[in-house]
Amino acid sequence: MKNSSQEVFDSEARRQLVNGGSKFKAMLHCKCPVCKEGDMFRSTATDLGNFNELNKKCKECGYGFMPEPGFYQISMFFTYMVGVAIFVVFGFLTYLVFNDPPLWVYYATIFIPTILSAPWNLRYSKVVMLYYFGDSESFK
Ligand SMILES: [Zn+2]
Repeated sequence: MKNSSQEVFDSEARRQLVNGGSKFKAMLHCKCPVCKEGDMFRSTATDLGNFNELNKKCKECGYGFMPEPGFYQISMFFTYMVGVAIFVVFGFLTYLVFNDPPLWVYYATIFIPTILSAPWNLRYSKVVMLYYFGDSESFK
């Protein structure tokens, strides 16, 4: 006779066998944290008008992508952290590659990657927020 934790383990193991089980891969493709199949977002990151709009529910398992009102407001801190990291990395690379160039070169090499990466930055901030602070564990 199985206890409930064994059944939970079995269902998780089965789910990982079916879906490949890679949390990182599911996060990379912005998939549902529960089934790792349904898309979190309505469109792609290159659709500049709608890149940040979430589906209300997972089309595969029905998990709601909005655990509570205002849930994703904290994701702006992830967005900020990644933005600062891009600033620091590209600023340092500019200093090394161009041997301390004029200020306008720093502006170009820092702001262009930051602006171009903004859609992915915003989307992955929401993905991280939902995966690590959402209620997907209780939904399974
Ligand atoms: Zn799902």
